[in-house]
Amino acid sequence: MPEARSKTEKVVELCKRRGIIFPAAEIYGGIAGFFEYGPVGVRIKRKLIEDWRKFFVESEENIYEIEGCLILPDKVFEASGHLEHFVDPLTQCKSCKAMFRADNLIEESTGKFVEGLPPEELTKILREERISCPKCGGELSDVKMFNLLLKTEVGPAGGEKASLRPETAQNIFLNFKRIYQSMRAKLPFGVAQVGKSFRNEISPRQFLVRLREFTQCEIEMFVDPRKVNECEGFERVKDVSIRLYTAEAQRKGEREMEIKVGEAVEKGLIPNKWMGYFMAKEFLWFLSLGIPREALRFRQMLPEETPHYSKGNFDLEIEFEFGFKECVGNAYRSDYDLRRHSQFSGEELAVVTPEGEKIIPHVIEPSFGVERPFLAILYHCFVEDKERGWNWLALPPKISPFIAGVFPLVSKDGLPEKAKEVYKMLKESGFDVVYDEKGSIGKRYARIDEIGVPLAITIDYQTLQDDTVTVRDRDTTKQVRVKILELKDIFQRVVDKNSTKDIF
Ligand code: AMP
Repeated sequence: MPEARSKTEKVVELCKRRGIIFPAAEIYGGIAGFFEYGPVGVRIKRKLIEDWRKFFVESEENIYEIEGCLILPDKVFEASGHLEHFVDPLTQCKSCKAMFRADNLIEESTGKFVEGLPPEELTKILREERISCPKCGGELSDVKMFNLLLKTEVGPAGGEKASLRPETAQNIFLNFKRIYQSMRAKLPFGVAQVGKSFRNEISPRQFLVRLREFTQCEIEMFVDPRKVNECEGFERVKDVSIRLYTAEAQRKGEREMEIKVGEAVEKGLIPNKWMGYFMAKEFLWFLSLGIPREALRFRQMLPEETPHYSKGNFDLEIEFEFGFKECVGNAYRSDYDLRRHSQFSGEELAVVTPEGEKIIPHVIEPSFGVERPFLAILYHCFVEDKERGWNWLALPPKISPFIAGVFPLVSKDGLPEKAKEVYKMLKESGFDVVYDEKGSIGKRYARIDEIGVPLAITIDYQTLQDDTVTVRDRDTTKQVRVKILELKDIFQRVVDKNSTKDIF
């Protein structure tokens, strides 16, 4: 295998080799923009989502979770505006027929930021800058807008036109009234959903960054529009310092600022306390997942980039080798969706306030992708370690695929039997452990380091005499000797603290 060059390429190589992520339909040559999780990847993804749920949903009293359908009738997307507005600019090579997103192509060739410009202007820039097909040098077509909804038809006669949802949010708006009534909800309240979304992206790229099928974790927080600054949790997070990249700083060519969320809301840099509340929590969450703070920032979207439904957007971006990429979109969706669905369906979607007034709630939406954060975590936790002789993942214990590997030092003299006993005891106590007796102990350490397992338990000859084992720390390779009976307590401490520091 040729030596992978960039850090990203090394991460991609690791993902394929160690059962983390595979290209979909690989034996048939794959399909662009679709990837599948392998046995190790699925564990990391599951834990990542579970941690998100714990931190953003379960910790709140008034956020309800639902699970909606992936396919919805096109009437929904007519009302939501996706049929009309959910478009990207497309240009095609007249010779080799390759298709490109015109704005990306221009940005890459000229460094000019052109997102949101109309197709005629993009065509003009393509011509002025003499941009040709990056694949074959051929002439590019005029730019036209391309709708990203993945369309389908439902029923044997192709009766009903439908699309795969491009965001999980729409099911939440459609079920708003049912949730409101069945949960006897009171404003402010939120509805969360985790699930797949689909976008027929023109040019999927950068591994997990631009996919056609991906997972989202979204919350729609419904608030009284006059009370967007009444957020109980805000007091708890107002002193969290975040990195903010305002639209003004972007225009002036300045850098991000470090600012406390409370101050940013006070100064009007963040539109309201609810938005500030979620942004602070997001920043803390990503820090807890091993992303360094210098690689995190909130970028205020420029007016021309802001989606059709939004009154203000802040993207949480994470830095990669190829630049900062949006991993969470925070949008102030106002009453747009409920109002439109009410108009198009004829259903009343207003609520009655305790004062007896009828209002359409406003919506603050933190929208997380899973695959981009997943890649960001692998990328930032990837340690290139010449001294150790292998590269490894410094994954935080709460999302590592296993908490520990359990190894007999050698596979003879009763050590495997004893090791299996320990393994079974830990597994039955609910810990994710993995057993391995193949190859040298060094190779086995390397194998679990590579997939980010924080601890290794080795059963050796001394174990047979005194029921002690060694526990090795992935991060420092330090080892301590402990009693088998102490293991459960040690594991629990590592899980609770999300760190091995106070053990070693
Ligand atoms: P958006 O609605 O475009 O703000 O998307 C919300 C989040 O979904 C983004 O921050 C990404 O994490 C994720 N996302 C959106 N589009 C894609 C895509 N094509 N591939 C992977 N993740 C995506």
